[in-house]
Amino acid sequence: KDKTKFSLNLLIEEVLNFLYPSILDSKVKIIKEIQKDDVILIGYKDEIRQVLINIIFNAIDVLSPERLNPTIIISLGITDMNQVQIHIANNGPEIPSNLVNTIFEPFFTTKTLGTGLGLFVCREIIEKHRGSLSCISGENQTIFSIILPIER
Ligand code: ADP
Ligand code: MG
Repeated sequence: KDKTKFSLNLLIEEVLNFLYPSILDSKVKIIKEIQKDDVILIGYKDEIRQVLINIIFNAIDVLSPERLNPTIIISLGITDMNQVQIHIANNGPEIPSNLVNTIFEPFFTTKTLGTGLGLFVCREIIEKHRGSLSCISGENQTIFSIILPIER
């Protein structure tokens, strides 16, 4: 398959539609903070879709329904270096500081049926697109940040 130009805003819509059944089940509230101006990316759309699904699905996973106001916030920002910064934040449990880098290693998982490959593959995909993927986690919020070059 070849690289294509595609709309990030539409891709996020597609991903949220795809995840809609899990979102309903989990009672997680999804908030989108996305400006009207479309962001155009160049690359492998299927792979970027997979990255968004993995990260949002991980976030749904940690937001148990017993939690008060389980919420995921997806926000976009443009840097002055022609990049888009996609933040996917959830108000789930803190990832201990000694593990925020380890979670990107292959086969690291805390789930009984986890593969531990999701974030490893996500980072590979993003770096292949000349971007970066990182995580910061605190007591009240965990944020995954994807940075990708954009087409203008
Ligand atoms: P898997 O989902 O199969 O466990 P991943 O590579 O997707 O593999 O994630 C690795 C681990 O990182 C998870 O098992 C979990 O411990 C941690 N993790 C991922 N996303 C989050 C998140 N949003 N909040 C807290 N921990 C997370
Ligand atoms: Mg996963």
